[in-house]
Parts: sequence; C-alpha cells; structure tokens
Amino acid sequence: MSRAFNFSPGPAALPEPVLEQAQREMLDFRGAGASIVELSHRGPEFLEVAEAAERDLRTLVGIPDDYAVLFTAGGATTQQALMALNFADPGQPADYVVTGHWGQTALKQAAPWVDLRIAASSEGDGFRSIPPRDTWQLTDGAAYVHITANETIHGVEFRDTPDVGDVPLFADFSSSIASGPLDVSRYGMIYAGAQKNLGPVGISVVIVRRDLLERAGQPRAEIFDFRSQLAAGSMLNTPPTWNWYLLGLTVKWMLDEGGVEEFARRSEHKAKLLYAAIDGSGGFYRNDVDPAVRSRMNVPFFLHDDGLDGPFLAEAKEAGLISLKGHRVLGGMRASIYNAMPVEGVQALAAFMRDFQQRHG
Ligand code: PMP
Repeated sequence: MSRAFNFSPGPAALPEPVLEQAQREMLDFRGAGASIVELSHRGPEFLEVAEAAERDLRTLVGIPDDYAVLFTAGGATTQQALMALNFADPGQPADYVVTGHWGQTALKQAAPWVDLRIAASSEGDGFRSIPPRDTWQLTDGAAYVHITANETIHGVEFRDTPDVGDVPLFADFSSSIASGPLDVSRYGMIYAGAQKNLGPVGISVVIVRRDLLERAGQPRAEIFDFRSQLAAGSMLNTPPTWNWYLLGLTVKWMLDEGGVEEFARRSEHKAKLLYAAIDGSGGFYRNDVDPAVRSRMNVPFFLHDDGLDGPFLAEAKEAGLISLKGHRVLGGMRASIYNAMPVEGVQALAAFMRDFQQRHG
C-alpha cells in the first residue's frame, strides 16, 4: 500500500492514525459486537462518542461555556441559510463582507430571508485582498456581520478578528478552524463544514453564543431551529453518526499532537515553504493574493504557461502528489495544506515544483 500526499481542498486528507483507528474499530467497536455505524445514536456507545467529541472540540478550540456547540448534517452551505432563519427577523438587514466565492455563497443562501447588505467586497480586484476595516459600511440594526475567515478557493485569509462593535460577528471557519488560536468570544457564531480540518464530509460544527438563541428569527420548521437542535443534543433526527465518530477521532488526534498552538506553528511553516517556492520561481509560478492576507490553508497558484497545467498534474501524480488541480472558478493549481498534511508533504511538493521548472522552464 502506498498513500500519496493528498492536497485535496475537501473532502481532504485525514490523519493516518485516525484512519487506522477507524479501521481497527470497524467491525467491533470497543467490544460492542458491532460497528459504531450499526449502533443506535441513542445507545451508550454512540452517546459517549458524541459527548467526547464535544468535550474535545471545546478544549481544542477553546469554546467558552456561554457558547453552545451543535453538530449538524447539511454542510456549511446549509448553515449559511439557517443563520438567516435563526438570527434575523424577516427582512432585517444583515451585513456581508465578501472576500471570495464562499462569501458570495453565504449571500445567496440568506437572500430569501434577509435584507442583504454588502458592507465590503474585494470582487473588484478578483478577490485578492481583504478590504480594510475602515472602509466597511456597516448597517445600523443589522442582525449580524458575516465574514469568511478563510476563502478556500481564492486563498485569502483574515489574519485578525475585525472589530464590528455590538453587532454579532458570524464567521465561516470551514477551511481554517483549529489551525491556530481563536478567540471565540469575539464571535456571535462560528460554523465549519468538517471536511477540511475537522474530519469527514457530512457533518458541520456550529458554535453559537447562547444568548443569540433567544432571538425569534423567522418561521421555520423545527428541524431548522438551532434552539430545538440544542435541546435535543443535536439529535432531533438521526445524526450522521459515522461522520461524528470520525470527527471525534480527528479532534482527539489534534489534541494529542499539541493542539492549536502546534498547528499554528506547523501551518506557518508549511505555508512559508510553499509561498517561497512560488515567489522564488522567477515568475514560473505565481500567486496573486495580497501577501498580507495569503491563506495558510489553501494556496492557489498558476503556471506561467497554462499549457503546462496538464503535464504538471500528471507528473505530480506520478510523484505521489495528488489533488492539485485548482477550482474551476480560478483554474490553475491549488494546494490545500490542512492540519493533516505533514510538513514532509509540502517539502515534497516544493521540491517537485523546482524539479518540474528545471525540466520545463
Ligand atoms: N465555506 C467554505 C469556506 C468552504 O470551503 C466550503 C466548501 N468548500 C463551503 C463553505 C461549503 O461547504 P459545504 O460543501 O459543506 O456546504
């Protein structure tokens, strides 16, 4: 068996020890006589899995007690719609700072229910920057201000938490949660699809300040109601138990590896290596993002001649480096280097890039 270095943006590489443990426990989960996916979500085995996952996530991310944690199916996109239903009155304004594709998606998902306001956007420069805070036009009486902490496609990341006054800050941390220290208390709501840094696709995490759950929001079915979900322990209906279990293993692995400080150190190191390989290539490779806000998680780059894209991908695959094709919105290449990507993977990619340039430059 040989496993490649997998630069997939999500579903993304999982830590090998997590996959090995899941494999070991697949047929007989800790003496239960069945796999965890075959057991009731209300049974003692799964309840322990679910509780441990929340406990460990709270420790890993540093989630204060006055914040609730929900584990929900439906992906990050679903949360983008549910936030409008749960936290905005019908037609209430909500501010959006749009710094890439996922910020645009957030707008679209909330559109039927709120009065959308674009407080700032970097669309004018092709989403290569973050508009300075003092240029944002925030709306009085807005339900929330939404940002995308890390734009997975455009490779743009907030390095600081913006100050938005008393209006709660809502943030999509799908592709950067647990990659470094985070002051949760600065946010009203944080949400993340798990399939990048937290585990498998099929489950999302919602971290929400409890007092916000008192808001009336809009008419909605119980299943779309965060308050009801919280009261039911995120089990209003059958939850994605397998995904929840894998998320728990992944979070535990991150704690065992040293937690968010350690992953901040590794991420900084990996990102530096990769941007140095790009910037040091004399224009053979190119990343167009404002260096001050370049993502530590997703590194989009272009070859100077897109006729070389095909050979680059084919030869990379030969070298054991997979899933480097850029998103169709941008083209080119993208290397996603989440917590499960070891430094050796990024070193191998940087070495391959230099070698490819020598042969094709
Ligand atoms: N937000 C961000 C930042 C993302 O990267 C993605 C998925 N790549 C989404 C939202 C959408 O997530 P999902 O597919 O889980 O709905």
